Amino acid sequence: MKYHSTRGKAPVLNFDEVVLTGLARDGGLYVPEDYPKFTPEKWRQLRGKSYQDVAFEVMMPFIGDSIKPDILRTLINDAYANFRHQAIAPVKQLDTNHFLLELFHGPTLAFKDYALQFLGKLFDHLLGERGERLTILGATSGDTGSAAIEACRDKGSIDIFMLHPYNRTSEIQRKQMTTVRAANVHNIALRASFDDCQAIVKALLGDLSFRDKYKLSAVNSINWARILAQVVYYVYAALSLGAPDRLVSFAVPTGNFGNVFAAYVAKQMGLPIGRLAVGTNKNDILTRFFESGEMRTEPVSPSLSPSMDIQVSSNFERLLFDAYDRDAARVTEAMLGFGDVGSFKVPPDTLAKLRELFRGGRIEDDSITQIIRETYQRTQEIIDPHTAVACAPHLLQGLPQDSVHISLACAHPAKFPDAIHTAIGISPPLPQFLSHLFEQPEQFTVLENDPTAVKDFIEKELEVNFASNPPSADNCYSSK
Ligand SMILES: *Cc1c(COP(=O)(O)O)cnc(C)c1O
Repeated sequence: MKYHSTRGKAPVLNFDEVVLTGLARDGGLYVPEDYPKFTPEKWRQLRGKSYQDVAFEVMMPFIGDSIKPDILRTLINDAYANFRHQAIAPVKQLDTNHFLLELFHGPTLAFKDYALQFLGKLFDHLLGERGERLTILGATSGDTGSAAIEACRDKGSIDIFMLHPYNRTSEIQRKQMTTVRAANVHNIALRASFDDCQAIVKALLGDLSFRDKYKLSAVNSINWARILAQVVYYVYAALSLGAPDRLVSFAVPTGNFGNVFAAYVAKQMGLPIGRLAVGTNKNDILTRFFESGEMRTEPVSPSLSPSMDIQVSSNFERLLFDAYDRDAARVTEAMLGFGDVGSFKVPPDTLAKLRELFRGGRIEDDSITQIIRETYQRTQEIIDPHTAVACAPHLLQGLPQDSVHISLACAHPAKFPDAIHTAIGISPPLPQFLSHLFEQPEQFTVLENDPTAVKDFIEKELEVNFASNPPSADNCYSSK
């Protein structure tokens, strides 16, 4: 399978090269040249198979000759070996026609593990094969950071630099990143928003001499391998609820548009998906887009669901590429305009086409609290504030009645104890294996919102590592 950049000016690459490259050199995102299609018969054959077997079948056509089948199997098995539920991604019934897809059974308790555990193994394999090193750069609104650090810690071929917005993640999210003590892990708290963090990651990846010198790559969902790994749980859940012989619809709490874009890929592969509800919190740029066709940024404000406090949804560019019939020049024009003036608009026919599949919905903080409370009273399930967005009644009412409704449960409630306590007076405990978090010292460096400051920090840290000095007191930083 060949991959093209959404901006049309970067080299066409194979899967393995796309994984190592992350963001395309022209600033675009890589997409497969076409989507493999499965017949209903093929879907039926996958029913009842293990998560790992489904993952293998779904991923294989996208990977082609880049990885030998037996190696791919091993990578998949290793990636999901330390998940704490036999089914990996179990489906739970909440109401007659409402199901929860639980995606918090990985090591850091959010759905990010489903892709990043796999990506970590993939990096290790591809770099080992080539005898190369990589410097991973990431931005996180909370959950990507811990999942990526967990996936890359102690891997000799990788240094990882993770930017999070200072004081904007939950305490547990922060501790999951900053208590990891590994010489190759570098946490940066930026005095800025998540969007600023992501903009710096893109700026440094766009600085081609810096990028080449330190072999920079990305773990954000701009990396195609993450999207691919996420397609698997949509397929797995749909099959377990009767697809392809029943229509399914998903409600997805959305920030960077990576998760819901994976559902779109599943649909392109022939999975019968009726509709995708894109749930946003008060940072509602996507909801406004699907209403008006205009993407317009507004300042981000902190909410009860911090992992969705985003205004620039990177993966939307992949959808736009298809919506514009893969016209890279049109996509480039829209994205450059968006960068310059903070907005672009699609024509009515494009919006109409997108609205055949997608609908947006905004859920304010007080509704989130109410949904957590009502769900608990009705079902005894404790859902986290992001899952609550996906369970909002008005979002579900927008899904076709003749389809099975599935809400994505993207994080474990124990990651957001304050919001849960406000709603139902209970603080869900962390699972035993994470109870050490509160005893460990934290390590992170606070930097100003300035690409040069981040660049200087990376260079300084890497000089230390490239000289293979173990970190000493001088180059260990801690919170102020
Ligand atoms: C990352 C995250 C989201 C947003 O997912 P995107 O792929 O960025 O749209 C929503 N909820 C939780 C819990 C997350 O960690």
